[in-house]
Amino acid sequence: MGSLSVAVIGAGAAGLAAARELRREGHGPVVVFERCAGVGGTWLYDDKVSTNHHSSLYASLRTNLPRETMGFLDFPLVSSDSGDSRRFPGHAEVLRYLQEFARRFDLHGMVKLQTEVLSVRREASSSWKVTYSRKQEEKEVIVEEEVFDAVVVCNGHFTHPRLADIAGIDGWPGKQMHSHSYRVADPFHGQVVVVIGYKPSGMDISRDIAGVAKEVHVAIRSPAAAAANISQTQQMPLPANQAHPNLWLHSCTVERAEGDGSVVFQDGSRVKADAIVHCTGYKYSFPFLDEDDAGINVDDNRVGPLYKHVFPPRLAPHISFIGLPFRAMLFPVFQLQSNWVAGVLSGRIELPSQEEMMKDVAAFYSDLEARGCPKRYTHDLGTSVRFRVRGLAGRAIRAGQD
Ligand code: FAD
Repeated sequence: MGSLSVAVIGAGAAGLAAARELRREGHGPVVVFERCAGVGGTWLYDDKVSTNHHSSLYASLRTNLPRETMGFLDFPLVSSDSGDSRRFPGHAEVLRYLQEFARRFDLHGMVKLQTEVLSVRREASSSWKVTYSRKQEEKEVIVEEEVFDAVVVCNGHFTHPRLADIAGIDGWPGKQMHSHSYRVADPFHGQVVVVIGYKPSGMDISRDIAGVAKEVHVAIRSPAAAAANISQTQQMPLPANQAHPNLWLHSCTVERAEGDGSVVFQDGSRVKADAIVHCTGYKYSFPFLDEDDAGINVDDNRVGPLYKHVFPPRLAPHISFIGLPFRAMLFPVFQLQSNWVAGVLSGRIELPSQEEMMKDVAAFYSDLEARGCPKRYTHDLGTSVRFRVRGLAGRAIRAGQD
């Protein structure tokens, strides 16, 4: 296919990796559309929470991966000149790292900042019309269109909150928020707070809040509880640790909320709470795509059908998705995905036929199903492994019984 014009949507870690690999492969022009005022995506911390903010970072956040595994393969995240030698650096250092990556590989000139992609539509040929709005001086917004041979979607998936369903929540008098809008613990001073979810954000935020709140009660679904080494049979909530004697872990979900301020857990325990913080994850969302046009749909957080999480078989390689996987060494994954997309677009790498890719996707989905892995974990590389181990254990037990 040679050199193609490519639109990249988003200038977070995935979009920057894509821009670099596409140019390295000889594609051009490559235009990166970024609606924020700078590159970095998630890592562009914003202490103000607006109606449309992108980043879900909170002030105290440090990486949940050691710096040795955070960086791109040939551009390590080494100890910074700020003198922070911690293996799990703070978020500001990751942003500086991504800005430095963009400088080092001269990517800034490819990025259109404050430019939001409004729609991506397939033209009669295999090209794509990208419509975008661009902020000008004095808040003037201009809407423009450009046509590209290919589109690489890198818009991130930690921005559209998923909330826990709680019966009676409409009549509950307390305050609710999602971790997407959590920044600091101060507003929870002296309060009783229920945190739902105990994955990395839930762990960080519950401990953060426990530093100032009267009590923090964390509702954890059983697998996480098991991971946190909590007895599944324990009827009473357990204090989470001695450092925060006011932090309680409930190894069950919240069942309902009541008009007198009570929050009732599945095991029957209850607390009168002032606030609920949902650390319940995010939804994949592509508001600028027509799903049929783009050859995908989102079903319970499964974006599909996608060959190896990247290419919709029907339209490959002219539209691709970088950055969908999670619970992995993400920056290296983004880099490898980007290199693959760039190579397929130039013709250096050949994809299997559409039929073979569809077969592969179908086999992947039925394997997940056989292992009892819900659709929402399709792109969770860590959970796939966990479910594989469980699936094997399950089969071994059944085989033994037979
Ligand atoms: P993003 O960083 O979200 O970038 C997407 C970009 O697309 C944004 O800049 C956005 O403005 C832009 N965009 C979206 N829609 C449009 C549009 N229509 N038009 C134009 N631009 C658009 N990962 C780790 O490896 N280690 C960690 O410790 C870690 N901690 C995390 C903690 C939190 C709280 C969260 C939320 C995520 C964390 N992650 C971590 C995951 C993190 O999201 C990835 O590391 C990575 O930054 C994702 O990059 P991305 O480019 O895919 O998405």
